[in-house]
Amino acid sequence: MSIGRREFLKKTAGLVGTLVFPGQALAAADNSMPARILGRTGVRVSVLGYGAMQCSDPSTIRHGLDQGITYIDTADCYMGGRNEKIVGRAVAGIRDRVFIATKVHMGSEARMRSSVDRSLSSLGVTSVDLMQLHGMSSRRQIEDKGVQRILEAMKAEGKIRFAGVTTHSNQREVLEAVMADGFYDTVLVAVNFRSPPALFEIIEKTARGGVGIIAMKTQSGGFPSGTYPELNSHQSALRFVLERPGIHTAVPGMLSRRMVDENLAAVLRKGGLSDLFLLDAFRADLMGKACAFCSGCIDQCRYGVGGLDAVRIAMYLDGYKDLRLASERAVFASGLKVCAECEGCTVECSQGIDIKTAASTSAALLA
Ligand code: SF4
Ligand code: SF4
Repeated sequence: MSIGRREFLKKTAGLVGTLVFPGQALAAADNSMPARILGRTGVRVSVLGYGAMQCSDPSTIRHGLDQGITYIDTADCYMGGRNEKIVGRAVAGIRDRVFIATKVHMGSEARMRSSVDRSLSSLGVTSVDLMQLHGMSSRRQIEDKGVQRILEAMKAEGKIRFAGVTTHSNQREVLEAVMADGFYDTVLVAVNFRSPPALFEIIEKTARGGVGIIAMKTQSGGFPSGTYPELNSHQSALRFVLERPGIHTAVPGMLSRRMVDENLAAVLRKGGLSDLFLLDAFRADLMGKACAFCSGCIDQCRYGVGGLDAVRIAMYLDGYKDLRLASERAVFASGLKVCAECEGCTVECSQGIDIKTAASTSAALLA
């Protein structure tokens, strides 16, 4: 879509009231990559991090690193383990100027140790900067002292510098628990311009408590952006999150040099009032399609699962158009099966998504 500014402003007039205004400045005075201290890790990282999950070309990642990105996010299970090897090739020779964050699934000591050792070997490093527990969704998981002891031992052995968690559901509970418990240094949280104000409030509070906050799903899951006179809606969405108080860096997925350059242009740009108009238009485009990770469906669901797993897999298929990624994620998305086999959905999704249809369609495509 391409429209003139005047026509665009006319079309979107009156829609802006739902958005809040910027809370922290983004652009660096000298036009270099802005950077922030990642909570109590004390490490200064670029506000634009590299979400490597879907990127299969080390030279694309290296292009981003050469432009000033210093934070890179990967995981043991992305691309069946191949993604960490790709990241390893991208950081070869410049390891000391990159903060590497990867992930491990909570489990027995033997399983966690073997996963971490595999990550080190795939990345070609002796230590990772941040090891995050995948997909936390409850206070009980955060407070698990057995898992904390395993991570602490690996810190003492020099295999990991810091420990963090990632979350997609019950995010507020997870953030509160991390802050209260005090063991984990960071939280990777799904947050974007459609997230509820209460999530932004707890993020700010948690960051004030010393926890590093990394944002993911900032651009709402790969759905196409409109083309507008100055910034496109993906760029505006990235800026919006990075301007929110408490967010230290974001890790949008970047598959190509074009995506890297587009995100770089977004964070290096000064000003941005027009962002607010773009985001309301983008919000309307995403209605009925993209999950806002509000967790509102969990309490409503008679089986206690909610639609998040199903809608997230549908997003990988429909937004990212990545069947491989959807298949990989489906292994850990137990709620997808429950929703696909459910006799009928009684949940009202805050984003107007038909959860049952998303689940049935995704399950059929993955079968
Ligand atoms: S489809 Fe069924 S299981 Fe899934 S969220 Fe709706 S009510 Fe819950
Ligand atoms: S209610 Fe809708 S938007 Fe919110 S988490 Fe559930 S599926 Fe996602």
